[in-house]
Amino acid sequence: MKILALSDEVVESLYRPEIRERFGDVDVILGCGDLPFFYLEFMVTVIGKPLYYIHGNHDKPFQYLSDGRIINRAEGCEDIETKCVHVRLAGGDLLLAGLGGSIRYNEEGLHQYTQAEMNRRLLSLTPTLLANRVRYGRYLDVLITHAPPRGIHESGDRAHIGFEAFLTLMDRFRPRFLLHGHSHVYRNDAITATRYKETQVLNVYPYRLIDFDQNYV
Ligand SMILES: [Zn+2]
Repeated sequence: MKILALSDEVVESLYRPEIRERFGDVDVILGCGDLPFFYLEFMVTVIGKPLYYIHGNHDKPFQYLSDGRIINRAEGCEDIETKCVHVRLAGGDLLLAGLGGSIRYNEEGLHQYTQAEMNRRLLSLTPTLLANRVRYGRYLDVLITHAPPRGIHESGDRAHIGFEAFLTLMDRFRPRFLLHGHSHVYRNDAITATRYKETQVLNVYPYRLIDFDQNYV
């Protein structure tokens, strides 16, 4: 099963019709936040595969398009903020959950949370994860987030501190992947793949093609 994950930045080389050939064989597209809705809509339309997304700290409640439209969601895509979905894809089925946003660092941001608030969001997801275990034999396959887990792939300032709740989630529910953005990568030697217990934590900024059956770390 192939996953195309996107975050934080519109990549010019992807924002063109030729990506249908390049990524035509992906099973699912995942948006890890801070992306304009037009970019997500473009991906779902051109590649023609399901797209699930969460929000980043820079996402606004409304986005303004060049044709004058004002939109508050990506048409044809599914917002899985604080949700867990069971997705049937050509390559198999997938248990997918989303916890977007960043750590709270000022009073303005819509998608900013304290550590305690993110813990509560994880708690609200927990009944579904427990039910998955009974129904599907596992809690979760892929968690998409915007911010990284605490202590993993964090970058410098206080806006880029990761969440402790994601460590708790990986301790208890052992997803195969945690895919995040938010930590922009400027150096070739930056670490973007880390194993935490049974989970492969991958920074997907600004995009990453992932084979579900492959081990990256
Ligand atoms: Zn961000």
